Amino acid sequence: MAKQFDDHNAHDYEGFSPATRALHIDRALEPGTGVAPAIMQSVTYFSEDGADFANKATEPLKDIFYARHGNPTASRAAMIVADMEGKETGIMFASGMAAITTTLLSLLRMGDHVVAQKSHYIGTTTLMNETLERYGVGVTLVEQDDPDAFEQAIQANTRVFMLETPVNPTMKLTDLKAVSAIAAKSGITTVCDNTFATPFNQRPGDLGVDIIVHSATKYMGGHHDLLGGVAVGSKKHIDAVWDMGMTLGGVCAPFNAWLVLRGLRTMKMRVDQSNRNGLAIAQMLEQNEKIEHVYYPGLESHPQYALARQQMKGYGGLLTFELKGGFDAGQRFIKALKIPFYAASLGGVDSLVIQPAALWLGRLSPELVSKQGVSPGLIRFSAGIEETEDLLKDIRQALEVA
Ligand SMILES: *Cc1c(COP(=O)(O)O)cnc(C)c1O
Repeated sequence: MAKQFDDHNAHDYEGFSPATRALHIDRALEPGTGVAPAIMQSVTYFSEDGADFANKATEPLKDIFYARHGNPTASRAAMIVADMEGKETGIMFASGMAAITTTLLSLLRMGDHVVAQKSHYIGTTTLMNETLERYGVGVTLVEQDDPDAFEQAIQANTRVFMLETPVNPTMKLTDLKAVSAIAAKSGITTVCDNTFATPFNQRPGDLGVDIIVHSATKYMGGHHDLLGGVAVGSKKHIDAVWDMGMTLGGVCAPFNAWLVLRGLRTMKMRVDQSNRNGLAIAQMLEQNEKIEHVYYPGLESHPQYALARQQMKGYGGLLTFELKGGFDAGQRFIKALKIPFYAASLGGVDSLVIQPAALWLGRLSPELVSKQGVSPGLIRFSAGIEETEDLLKDIRQALEVA
C-alpha cells in the first residue's frame, strides 16, 4: 500500500457498513486535501537510497516502484474491494480475465489438477477446456449444483476448486459453504468468481472461500466505460498472485483504477436498484403467457431458491428467459425494446439485452451452445438502474410485438 500522506485524514471506520466504508476508508491515502481521489499516473517512482530501491523492487504489493508492480490508485481500489469482501488485501488487474488467469496460474503448476464447473463465464470455460490442459494441468468439470460431485472429483493432485455462482445462462448456484468445507478438508484452495452477485449480494469469504475474483468491468465500474479485474484474499495468497502478475503484466492502468474507485462509491445504490429491477422483471415475466421459462435465483420456482435465500442477500440484475416462438420471436422482442441496448456485458447503469444463441452460434458449435444450456429462444437481460415501472412497461409492449 502507498504510505499515508495525510494522517489528519486517517480515522477508524470500524463498525460502519461496507457502503459507507467504500467512501471513506481510503481517505488517508490521499496525497493532499482532495475530496475526490487523485490519479497517480506516474510509471516510475524515485527512491531515497539503494536499500529503499531494493526494498520497493522486491516487496509484494509495493505500488510506488514501477507501474507493472502496481500503482497507488489501483491499490486504493483493491483495498476497498478487499474490505467489501471481508478479505485482508487485494490486487487490481487490467480485466476480469487477467485477474482469473493470473490467480489460477499463481496456484497451479504442471501435473496439478483443478475441479471446475460445467458452466462458467465463457473465458473461464475456455481456460478450463483448452488452455490449462496445454500446460499439463488436468481439469475435471462437475455439475455445480451437486456438492458431492466436487468431492468425488478430487484427486491426489487436486489443488484448486474454481467456483462461480450464479452462473450464466442457466442461473445455477454453487453451495459455497458446502463446497468450501469439502475443499478445506483436503487442503484445496477455493477461488470464486463473484462478479454476478457482487459483495453486496453475496460474500463468498464468509462461507469459507479463499480467493474472490471479479470482473470490475461489470458492477464495480458500473458505467460500461472501463475494463478491469480484481482478486482479493489473504496476504499470503495475494502476494503469490502479485508475483505472477508482475511476470504476466496484466496490470490495471491508473485511469481505469480511478474509474473503478469512482464506481465503487455508488455501487451499493446501483446494485440495490438492479436487484429491484431484476426481481420485478423476473416476477412479471413468469406470469406472461408468451414466456416458456424464467431463470432467476430470486424466484421461488428456481430449483435452488432455498440456497439462494441462504447465501445471497439480493439476486442481482441478470436474468435469462425462454421466449415461446424460438429464435425469431426473440429477435422481434429485442428489436421492439426501447430501453435496453442490444449489447454484450452486464452490471452497468444501462439495461442490456442479448440473445446468446445469436452470439454463440457464430463462434461455437451448436452442440457446445446447447451444452451450455442455451436454446434458440433464450434471452439474457441485464437490468440497469432505470425506473422499475419503465422497464416493465417497455418489456410488456415488446412482448406484444414478439
Ligand atoms: C465479464 C466477466 C468476466 C471477464 O471479465 P472481463 O473484465 O471482461 O475480462 C469474468 N467473469 C464473469 C462472471 C464475467 O461476467
